[in-house]
Amino acid sequence: MNVPEYIGKDLLRDAGLRVPPGSVVRNDADLAVLGERLLVPCVIKAQIAAGKRGKSGGVLFASDAKEARAAAQTLLGSTINEHLVECVLIEAAVPIAHEYYAAVMNDTSTGLPLVLFSSDGGMEIEDVPHDRIARTTVDIRAGFSRDAARALASAGGVPSSALGTFADVLVALYSVYDANDAELLEINPLVRSENGDLYALDCKLVLDDSARRRHEELFEMAATSLGPQGTELERRARRLGLLYMELDGNVGILANGAGLTMTTMDVVAHYGGRAANFMEIGGEAYTKATPALEIVLANPRVRSLLVNFCGAFAQTDVMARGAVDAIKALGPLIPVAFSIHGTGEEAAIAIVRDELGIEPYDSMDDAVRFAIAAAASSPPIAGAAS
Ligand code: GDP
Ligand code: MN
Repeated sequence: MNVPEYIGKDLLRDAGLRVPPGSVVRNDADLAVLGERLLVPCVIKAQIAAGKRGKSGGVLFASDAKEARAAAQTLLGSTINEHLVECVLIEAAVPIAHEYYAAVMNDTSTGLPLVLFSSDGGMEIEDVPHDRIARTTVDIRAGFSRDAARALASAGGVPSSALGTFADVLVALYSVYDANDAELLEINPLVRSENGDLYALDCKLVLDDSARRRHEELFEMAATSLGPQGTELERRARRLGLLYMELDGNVGILANGAGLTMTTMDVVAHYGGRAANFMEIGGEAYTKATPALEIVLANPRVRSLLVNFCGAFAQTDVMARGAVDAIKALGPLIPVAFSIHGTGEEAAIAIVRDELGIEPYDSMDDAVRFAIAAAASSPPIAGAAS
């Protein structure tokens, strides 16, 4: 889950980092309320779930209140990097003496947090030469010590007189990453202002989706704070932690995992049908099958349902249990086709056959063809589950 910049900055501020004072604005009324309290000169930043805003016109500068209001009005409602801007952050501008880069991320090669620091901040980190980025792996049992942070800053080119200040920032950064179960926390740029203070001018925070239960409030805020993005059903899915996209076809799809879901959509397209949705339920197929199916069926275009399960490590009988319970609970009034293959398939097929009276297809192609034909001939359902 991506956390908007302004929420990430609040967390940094709470951890003792310096962040320029700012306000969030969503419309003209907010701007009017802000009125003369607007701090100038200021920076007006589009709050979108995408980076590289500086290069795409998503970060504007203003020297007086009138300019600031005009900049906010320009950004609000515009599209930056294919994202609709529904919210901007207006922050006091910091006179920059130097830009640094600091980040903590999950390092997949070691399975441990990696702290990165560079004196070449401001640009995309991919564009910084590898040997210009200092890095250190953290033992999560020991935590990230102030000494380790000093060593990292030193390796990143910070002079010894300033090491203490940088170490404090890096330790605080790690604490925010750790406390929120982040996958990534990146400050680019971290700047030294003309009067020598360090400020976090940007904040990219990505939370680990499997830690949702530990941070319900933060996830909820992150999901809703940028305004109503997506369709009503997409928002409902997001609140439940399901990745769902509403499409304009009529074959509803429930499959396990993003890869299989996309394959299923491709096969539907191959046989001339159109998918009504993408829905990723992955390893949680069992626990979330009912709300997932409810959302799939709430799309009024859905005329048939295609359930495609494929198990390797995941067990299809566990998935089938979830899907069958969901179908029994919701009772979709549309034709349903099953294709079930892999680990646990015999038990899975028996559950579907015995409890729903539906015979799963031996081949995915046949299930897909049935679902397409059924969608084409079945009438719209009045009062589909919603
Ligand atoms: P990004 O392009 O999406 O990563 O957006 P950033 O928040 O990093 O902003 C882009 C650039 O705008 C930064 O690298 C800074 O150079 C500049 N910038 C952002 N905030 C300020 C500020 O308060 N003062 C000044 N002078 N520049 C800023
Ligand atoms: Mn940035």
